[in-house]
Amino acid sequence: MSPLGQKIVRLIEAQGPIPVSQFMMLALHDAEHGVYASRNAIGRQGDFITAPEVSQMFGELIGLWLLEVWRQQDRPKRIRLAELGPGRGTLMKDVLRAARLDAQFVAALDVMLIEASPALQAVQAETLHDPPTAIHWSAKVSDMFGDIPLFLIANEFFDALPIHQYVQRETGWHERMVTVDGDDLSFALAPVAVPGLAVPESRGDATDGAVFETSPASTALAEEIAAHIAQYNGAALIVDYGHGGIGFGETLQAIARHKSAPLLDSPGSADLSAHVDFASLAEAATRGGAKAHGPVTQGAFLNALGIGHRADVLAKKNPMQAASIESALQRLTAPDQMGNLFKAMAILPAIAPPPPGF
Ligand code: SAH
Repeated sequence: MSPLGQKIVRLIEAQGPIPVSQFMMLALHDAEHGVYASRNAIGRQGDFITAPEVSQMFGELIGLWLLEVWRQQDRPKRIRLAELGPGRGTLMKDVLRAARLDAQFVAALDVMLIEASPALQAVQAETLHDPPTAIHWSAKVSDMFGDIPLFLIANEFFDALPIHQYVQRETGWHERMVTVDGDDLSFALAPVAVPGLAVPESRGDATDGAVFETSPASTALAEEIAAHIAQYNGAALIVDYGHGGIGFGETLQAIARHKSAPLLDSPGSADLSAHVDFASLAEAATRGGAKAHGPVTQGAFLNALGIGHRADVLAKKNPMQAASIESALQRLTAPDQMGNLFKAMAILPAIAPPPPGF
């Protein structure tokens, strides 16, 4: 058992079983042993590789996407460009490189990175050591809302927000808890069913043993973002592992060293991630008074933005790297790689035209 595992065992012995959501928070964010307390969870050497770490093309196309949406909204003079959970800072670096195409756009930017982990904030500052405009950091999501248009990007952020899991039994939906069994952590159901759990009708009928996952933290945040965009303009682009809100099943998984790992064996040393319920995020965006576009698959989104053409141009400029550029293109867009598993969704003011790629 990892040091964090032992800490969680002691916590449960003192206070009783904890919901899966609290286990996720502890495993990811514990200041000493959590996944994000380490500088190196993300990337080739770490536990998982994200799209911006696969290729600069991903961030550059998102930079062009932001530029185009800013133009569609009549080039506001001052905008907040925020990123949720920037990891190693690679996505923002590539976004800002593409942004340099338009000096007026760069001059409008007030860039803010929202990052809970001090270790990752330091990595981001190294990656972004030469930015075209000043960058601010905050650990708190609420700090990104100013009184100017918000242009927001979030890649593999919502999948790390805490989820609750409920299991259907004859007596109703019981929350899945993490408890202690001997020296180990194990799952157990709460003894009493939760009253009045709102399971969306789109999920269909639940049979005995069905698992329902829900992330109130994610929907509350999506609604807040949408309300802000409805009031001040702007756009949010959310890219993540996702599903369309149909059926039941558990998607919470642990990944260590690029391989699936047991969920409870060694908290803090495996990344945790749950598929994002885009249907619920879209509903939340509508409640907030904005419009959701998509989700579309990451492959369809990047192809519509012209990633194939971008790969050709890069390969012509760097013939020695042609093969690795082609394999990055496949990795990002092919249906059996990241192309279908990942989805993109945008939130824009209700009256705004559809953004590129949707
Ligand atoms: N977007 C990056 C990294 C994804 S990993 C990429 O694509 O490579 C998730 C990131 O979100 C990490 O930087 C993590 O520290 C951050 N994070 C997760 N939950 C957070 C929260 N509640 N508040 C702020 N940052 C958070």
